[in-house]
Amino acid sequence: MRLMLILYFAGALICCAHSAGDSVPRLLLVSFDGFRADYLETYKLPHLQEFIEDGVLVREVTNSFITKTFPNHYTIVTGLYEESHGIVANDMYDADAKKVFSQFNDSDPFWWDEAVPIWVTNQQQGKGASAAAMWPGSDVKINNTTPHFFMKYNFSVKFEERAERIVSWLNSSEPVVNFAVLYWEEPDASGHKYGPNDTQNMGRVLEEVDKHVGFLMNKLKAAGLWDTVNVIITSDHGMASCSAEKLIVLDKCLGRNNYTLIDRTPVAAVLPRQNKEVVYNLLKNCSSHMKVYLKEEIPDRFHYRHHRRIQPIILVADEGWTIVQNESLSKLGDHGYDNALPSMHPFLAARGPAFRRGSRLGALANVDIYPAMCHVLGLAPRPNNGTLANAKCLLADQWCISVPEAVGIVIGVFMVLSTFTCIIIISKNRVVPSRPFARLQLQSDDDDPLIG
Ligand SMILES: [Zn+2]
Repeated sequence: MRLMLILYFAGALICCAHSAGDSVPRLLLVSFDGFRADYLETYKLPHLQEFIEDGVLVREVTNSFITKTFPNHYTIVTGLYEESHGIVANDMYDADAKKVFSQFNDSDPFWWDEAVPIWVTNQQQGKGASAAAMWPGSDVKINNTTPHFFMKYNFSVKFEERAERIVSWLNSSEPVVNFAVLYWEEPDASGHKYGPNDTQNMGRVLEEVDKHVGFLMNKLKAAGLWDTVNVIITSDHGMASCSAEKLIVLDKCLGRNNYTLIDRTPVAAVLPRQNKEVVYNLLKNCSSHMKVYLKEEIPDRFHYRHHRRIQPIILVADEGWTIVQNESLSKLGDHGYDNALPSMHPFLAARGPAFRRGSRLGALANVDIYPAMCHVLGLAPRPNNGTLANAKCLLADQWCISVPEAVGIVIGVFMVLSTFTCIIIISKNRVVPSRPFARLQLQSDDDDPLIG
């Protein structure tokens, strides 16, 4: 009898844990680094197309300046421009703390603590646990918190292993994982190596990436998560072709003892060692293929000025051009350029119960992804630069109307109103009672001669 009672209560507990897991909205955010938006049209990607078919697609995501990996991955999970979250480049120098950040030295919380990524907020607000597989920053104690489950970054861990870990964590009932992030280095690495227009090599690499999408979909299906977990697939930036014929050689313009190069091409961060104006003027006359800005001159549209880690002089190469000191070029593709360039834009696709089916959007800013994710998870968003209204056409529970639809509705209403007005006018004219014809009656006075 006692055994039966124990079994009964154990069963009830498992049942409750599962139903709690089922009732909590869940979201998996996936990034394939450097997935340029137009790869979707150039290459056959059957698994990704299947994913998009019954979900939503944003054809071009306007990412944040500078269009590099660390800054944009942190923008996606915070909804903040780079000047607000503090990860302003892949290579940084903080003059106050005298610290250096690079992709090989990125685990000091100091760099990340100026913002709170969504995996931390999710756990702080008690909605559930978070899990992460290699998303930049996800193995760092930000705000003294890591995701409940995470993997230490290691580029040699295969996609399949990352995906399997994520799916098993999403299946965990104690604790319930309601938010997870998954990162993969391709097609970025090959985009740099071959250039985005090498259709033979990039076609092969994108076929691999597409197989990874298929693998993830199958794992989610096999785990019974496919119909309940919301999935976003996106990227941090695109890729532009560059060549050895398009080099801006700084050594031809100024001596190296004049400055320290903190971040390199195609947006170079320059810390002058002596007179800033002299360095600025030398750089200004260096090449017609790059823009040279004093920090305070950086255009507003970049949202890239108000942070101490942004260096006093910023050089922005034109699309396809590379800034070097005098070294030769070892790559055929690069990113980091002006975020208004279509070649720098990635895409976004999403599917699951929280997303509309078959909805297509021309563009969305990547700062708008964060409020949409908070909405899906039922989280109160932290202050951010995004706007939920911009993403409402992605969301199943939001009223969304496109401009052509709005114009159609206005014209339709106008036509209906006009028709009704016409009908009323016509029917009023018909209703006017017809007076019986009567011969004009002359009164006797009327015949009185006026002059008599
Ligand atoms: Zn990247």
